Amino acid sequence: MAKVFHQEPEDLIGKLVFKRFIEQNHPGLFANFIEVVETGKSLEKDFSYYYEEEDKWYHFIAVKLGDGFAITVRDITTRKNLELKLNSLATKDGLTNIYNRRTFDETIVKEWQRCYREKQPLSLILCDLDYFKHYNDFYGHPAGDDCLKKVAQTLDNSITRLSDLLARFGGEEFAILLPNTDKNGAITIAKRIQIAIRLETIPHEKSVVSDIVSISIGIATMIPVLENSSHTLIEMADQALYQAKNQGRDRYSVLED
Ligand code: GH3
Ligand code: MG
Ligand code: MG
Repeated sequence: MAKVFHQEPEDLIGKLVFKRFIEQNHPGLFANFIEVVETGKSLEKDFSYYYEEEDKWYHFIAVKLGDGFAITVRDITTRKNLELKLNSLATKDGLTNIYNRRTFDETIVKEWQRCYREKQPLSLILCDLDYFKHYNDFYGHPAGDDCLKKVAQTLDNSITRLSDLLARFGGEEFAILLPNTDKNGAITIAKRIQIAIRLETIPHEKSVVSDIVSISIGIATMIPVLENSSHTLIEMADQALYQAKNQGRDRYSVLED
């Protein structure tokens, strides 16, 4: 405990530092300790403590002891950081650091079910870079990768809600899942994205529609019903994207159920 508090053990003996520390760092946790005493049920938890620009992680077990409680604390920072890193490797895309296809596939199924229960609209935006094969051929693959990173960052800055999910859908395709968002909400975001990408003014000499990097967008919106699945929403967004491409690129198209 002295290590946690960055003090000498002698300086802690007989001090009532614990409650104040807990209340500052994890409000509400002290109430859980009271519960341990009242119910006799032990409590096990990981908790983090930010100190000297590092997240330290501790695992503790609190057990009732007499009319009070005793706590055992272990420093698990190394294991926890490894866990967080593995989790990030499994859920994020290595190049762009946004969510990967796997996370998207899992999330769309969950959000589909949730929006079905709540009878709420679920929208999906698919973005595809225009003439990106030409970009790679002209500027080279590493430059293409840099461009994808920049676009991913711009898209990430364009979404605001915590429940919105941006993911790399395929090579130069990005998906944005928008729960509880209707057609108009999705269109607002699509417009915002297209403006943001134009403002980046990434040169693209070989684009047929412009001299900077542009994207085409397909939007689909549905209130989930039993007859359909999240696949239907993806197919619709893909079809809308195809329309946007056919209508000359650098634009969006919408399909609504
Ligand atoms: P369109 O306007 O019809 O979308 O034309 P396009 O050239 O973008 O479409 P196409 O699907 O023919 O080509 C996609 C290209 O995206 C193929 C490949 O050169 C590039 N690409 C896909 N994934 C990556 C990647 O991870 N890094 C880089 N640098 N390029 C990629
Ligand atoms: Mg494509
Ligand atoms: Mg493309």
